[in-house]
Amino acid sequence: MLYRAPRGTLDILPEDQPYWRHIYDRIHHICALYGYRQIETPIFEETSLFVRGVGETTDIVEKEMYSFTDKGGDPITLRPEFTAGTVRAYIEHGMHTLPQPVKLYSIGPAFRYERPQAGRYRQFFQWNVEAIGEQDPAVDLEIMSVAWQLYDDLGFQNLAFQLNSTGCPQCRPNYLQVLVDYYRGHQEHICEDCQRRLERNPLRVLDCKNEVCQPIIAAAPQIMDYLCQECAEHFATLRGYLDELDRPYTINHRLVRGLDYYTKTVFEVWAEGIGAQNAVCGGGRYDGLAEELGGPPTPGIGFASGLERIVLTMKQQEVVVPALPAPRIFVAYLGPEAKTEAVKLAVELWEVGLGATLAFGGRSLKAQMRQAGKLDAAFTLILGEKEIEAGQVAVRDMVRGEQVEVARGEVISWLRQRLSGG
Ligand code: AMP
Repeated sequence: MLYRAPRGTLDILPEDQPYWRHIYDRIHHICALYGYRQIETPIFEETSLFVRGVGETTDIVEKEMYSFTDKGGDPITLRPEFTAGTVRAYIEHGMHTLPQPVKLYSIGPAFRYERPQAGRYRQFFQWNVEAIGEQDPAVDLEIMSVAWQLYDDLGFQNLAFQLNSTGCPQCRPNYLQVLVDYYRGHQEHICEDCQRRLERNPLRVLDCKNEVCQPIIAAAPQIMDYLCQECAEHFATLRGYLDELDRPYTINHRLVRGLDYYTKTVFEVWAEGIGAQNAVCGGGRYDGLAEELGGPPTPGIGFASGLERIVLTMKQQEVVVPALPAPRIFVAYLGPEAKTEAVKLAVELWEVGLGATLAFGGRSLKAQMRQAGKLDAAFTLILGEKEIEAGQVAVRDMVRGEQVEVARGEVISWLRQRLSGG
């Protein structure tokens, strides 16, 4: 039996790591520019945290969580998203006593039992960013800018925000009533899922992908027309900032997002090149979440971005990333006596910070040279009996194909000079 990675998971192989490393570097750089500090919460939490935080009637909680009872009998869930855990940590560590908003980010895996397809996995990495403790719409603008700056910095073309408001507990129930009444008039024309959504989580009918529901969604009443004054003003202020900054955005009345905790602003960033799953990022405001989790009333806003989708977009858009550092020196040897000297030389190269790849096994010099070539070494150092007797090292310049003898005591400084372009 041949084992394979579990369905919906990916091995991120060494050849893909330059993309990942570049993304991590840019994330840390940009978060520092905006004053966001890193936090890492556990990969699993008590199941009820997600049931309360994400919402009992959401797809995530109903169908997608990796939940189990641990050996002590406690119900545990692998995190399907980061916000619930981050807000839990905010409350647990009394972060409301810090200057607000508390601005945090994390990077790590999340887990959802979904139907795997391109850009949709069961284990995926998210970059998660939250600003907790402030309701000013300028924070909405800031958090959207953080996401935008990463994609722009990575060189993405044709970026656009999708923007909507989901109202608040004051105005949303009113809208939901209007929406449900409208849908009742079309009940025989909607899909089965939407029949169920209408009972359990009516807002979600708006992001149904089923063909039959599309004309009904298109003509549905829009939440914009039902926002209370506070929500309408919040939205108008945010739009004003985006307009001033010339950031392209589309108001998308269907954007409701899959998690219950959103209030007011919701947004996604769409990038070209990743097909149907074209949201590289999604987020929004969650002013009721901290209270829902037993904390003091605390507004908050955040987003999460899937790193696999960022990598897919980078490949599609042919973004060039820097190569990762690799040893430029290969240490080869001829015979057992020379091998000890080769080991000593390699250790010296590692310790002085030049780095090296050491040949192993009893392969022929020719085979060792071939390996050095495959590894793109700039120089191969060759030690044989003759060199050891003479107190020298043979140094082969792999690009020029030239070979010189260098005194053993001078080889480090010789290499340093040559590798720095001297
Ligand atoms: P969400 O937490 O559902 O709002 O998703 C936020 C972002 O995470 C999305 O825009 C995607 O980039 C990414 N994402 C969500 N679910 C998946 C998944 N199953 N596989 C890969 N990326 C995902």
